[in-house]
Amino acid sequence: MLGDHSAVLSSAPSRRAVFSVVGASVVAGLTACSSSETSTPVQTPTGAGASPDVPGPNGALAVGGEVPTSSASPTPTATATKRIRRTFIPDYQLPPMVGGLAPVITKIETKHPVVFLTIDDGNIKTPESIKLMAEYDYPASLFLTKDTVADNPAFFTAFKAQGSLVENHTVTHNINMVRQWGYQQQLNDMVGMQEYSFQHYGRRPTLFRPPGGAYSNVMRQAVADAGMKAIVTWEAKANAGKMDYQVGNSLRPGDIVLMHFRAEFAADLAAFRAAHLAAGLEVVLLEDFLGVA
Ligand SMILES: [Zn+2]
Repeated sequence: MLGDHSAVLSSAPSRRAVFSVVGASVVAGLTACSSSETSTPVQTPTGAGASPDVPGPNGALAVGGEVPTSSASPTPTATATKRIRRTFIPDYQLPPMVGGLAPVITKIETKHPVVFLTIDDGNIKTPESIKLMAEYDYPASLFLTKDTVADNPAFFTAFKAQGSLVENHTVTHNINMVRQWGYQQQLNDMVGMQEYSFQHYGRRPTLFRPPGGAYSNVMRQAVADAGMKAIVTWEAKANAGKMDYQVGNSLRPGDIVLMHFRAEFAADLAAFRAAHLAAGLEVVLLEDFLGVA
């Protein structure tokens, strides 16, 4: 629990639901999983600055060496289940399904000093990754691909201890699925990962990340029909040992950061850590914030 969070909230009880819902069809140019990826397009810069004085359990400005306990926490909301280790009242609401299409989220509009870490694919599985995530106590949304984790699915259960959740990044990771596949084939590739996740991690994913990042309305419909709540893209990346920003040159509250399970995991995580500490942001689980854990 962070007392400063409630302070922030009580002084700004805004319930604005401003978010980035992209209703357009195919978004091209996203290559989330190639080495030459670019960031998410179509994002409106916001003026929200980081709160300068908020400590976080995963390292941000640990003033006084102790994080306040939940005794000072605000009244839990419907989404504040016991799973949530970091107490705050979300000031953002997941956009609803409209016309059977799942919303697309690039960034969370929030006044809370939080940032969201997402880690994709699952190709490189090193004990060092587990160790670092535990050391920093980072929860993350793990967008895993069945075909890349099937040789060792148990590896990813280790991240549960920090509150991480496995989400859906398809079975086959076809980065051209939007162009090559129709509704049914896309749906099948999503449902396959839904079931695989349930089998191995005990939960059906609620979030979907398109391989390569491109999506369409057909994909949005398939995501909804597969039982998921949203497509999640990103606004910043930890890549090749450094941060890449779609907007500005630092992390901002509500940013969704993309990483991968790659050989340079440690360097990427170090870049992310330096960035979120510099910005005074706490790493919290996206699913907790959205109420879809
Ligand atoms: Zn990927």
